[in-house]
Amino acid sequence: MNNEQQLSLFDDSSFNSNDQKALIPTDAKIPIPSGTYADMIEIAQHCNQCHRCELGQTRTHAVVGRGHLQALIMVVGEAPGQNEDETGLPFVGKAGQLLEKILASVNLDTEKDVFISNINKCRPPGNRVPTTEEMEACKPYLLEQIRLVDPKMILLAGATAVKGLTGDKRGITKIRGQWMEWEGRLCMPIFHPSYLLRNQSREVGSPKWLTWQDIQAVRAKFDEIRKSI
Ligand code: SF4
Repeated sequence: MNNEQQLSLFDDSSFNSNDQKALIPTDAKIPIPSGTYADMIEIAQHCNQCHRCELGQTRTHAVVGRGHLQALIMVVGEAPGQNEDETGLPFVGKAGQLLEKILASVNLDTEKDVFISNINKCRPPGNRVPTTEEMEACKPYLLEQIRLVDPKMILLAGATAVKGLTGDKRGITKIRGQWMEWEGRLCMPIFHPSYLLRNQSREVGSPKWLTWQDIQAVRAKFDEIRKSI
């Protein structure tokens, strides 16, 4: 960014200009005000050319989201893995298949009832956890996605998703299954499906068993909300 472009950041009157908007993918210091994007396609275009953090240097595809654009439920995970980076779609590997099964177990359909996204849109090398700076750089895109989809509840898959969206740093085993409010929306932390893949037991009290309790609570809340709208 040259001096003139940087100075223009201080000029409120130019804030919504197309020039200003075009700078968003270039630097995490450039804000993304609420209402910047008209639709998910615009967000995807910016994410695919984005270098607000270093993850933009190694991605194949930015992974923006899939599912219903006006879903009542939004699932937010951590960041894309290898399959997701290659296809440009979130949750398409083994963990994604398990997520589909978990949702289907209570008759929730990802094409109809759910929109799926991640805190970070680009794959961290070696599937490491995204850094706080990387999460902060990408968060405005997620906030815009939440504004556009306007879900009535958000399922936060794993501790990184909880921390990335709400700032809550507690461990997932402590807070999973508990409804929490964030910005006026109901959120429920759940185990990340990849954690469930590493913990196959179905015994009472196991992560899989607990997730079964959580997804039933989600279904009950989904029915309650649907009746009220
Ligand atoms: S992870 Fe997000 S902020 Fe970082 S380069 Fe990708 S789209 Fe941009």
